[in-house]
Amino acid sequence: MADFRWDPVNGQWVIIAENRAGRPNDFEQADTYADIVKSKRVDCPFCYGNEAKTPKEIAAYQACEKDGRWLTRVFSNKYPAVHENGGVNHQTNVGPYRKGDFLGHHEIIVESPEHKTSFSQLSDEEIDAAFKAYRDRIALFANDSKLSHAMLFKNCRPDAGASIEHLHSQILCTSITTEKVLRRVDRAKQYFEANQVDVISAIADFEVSDGSRVIEQTDNFIAFCPYASRFGYLTTVTQKSGGNDFFRLTDDEVSELGKFIRKLVIKLENRLPNAAYNMLLHIAPFDISADEYYQWHVEIFPRLANPAGYEWGTGCWINPVAPEHAADSLRNSPDVI
Ligand SMILES: [Zn+2]
Repeated sequence: MADFRWDPVNGQWVIIAENRAGRPNDFEQADTYADIVKSKRVDCPFCYGNEAKTPKEIAAYQACEKDGRWLTRVFSNKYPAVHENGGVNHQTNVGPYRKGDFLGHHEIIVESPEHKTSFSQLSDEEIDAAFKAYRDRIALFANDSKLSHAMLFKNCRPDAGASIEHLHSQILCTSITTEKVLRRVDRAKQYFEANQVDVISAIADFEVSDGSRVIEQTDNFIAFCPYASRFGYLTTVTQKSGGNDFFRLTDDEVSELGKFIRKLVIKLENRLPNAAYNMLLHIAPFDISADEYYQWHVEIFPRLANPAGYEWGTGCWINPVAPEHAADSLRNSPDVI
């Protein structure tokens, strides 16, 4: 059972999960990136044909019924940070601390049967399948009254936290919403009460009117480096019209969004070759009616530097790349591999 512990000083939950220490790491003891590629492709647990090396499949997305080969495959994390058999929201005091008994799901979404290592390498049909999987898994969790919030994230390359090289995303869904997420949503609520508009839509509209930090737009989505970017080349992607929950996007919309994000990652990698990057999907908690004031949005950011003492101590980030320069650089970066 996952061991949730609450710190009364910073108001944050931590998960003590010693089982995670035993998970394999493709990147340990490899001298070079080429060594990793050479040594790991043969027995990669995420490659097509090695399905027996992972937990049982939860869902698979295929190109067509005749072709049994999956494009995107979903299964439970073999080394989960949370467990499905916990309580919904049970807390007990431990001295000044709290212990939580919460349930959760920790799933892996593998986005290609082939040993691809970045989102930029996915085919059109792999992109479509991956984004349908993201949407469908979150829709399923959103309809479970025991669950409160889901974080979909991608760690690409070791400096971004990846331990398996084969491209994959993770969804960590829990019966509690963490302090950080609650604070984001609460600030959005305050903004809505003061301005009668969703803060993410307000930011997107402002960035369009300013123009200097916009990277690119499609019919329905926009990408920009936000005015107050925490990191160099931080890119926010959201829906222009606002309104929809992420898990209510249509097949056409997720297809458009996926290909747009692939294009943005290609631009990023052309600007910063082999950069490690993270992708986060921010959505409102399922149990808070935040539709009108907290629109879903994606953040993509390269890991150019580790947070240092000042950032850890204050939460105030020092960003050495102005978002205006980052957006200009990405706008002019080639969008083909
Ligand atoms: Zn693989």
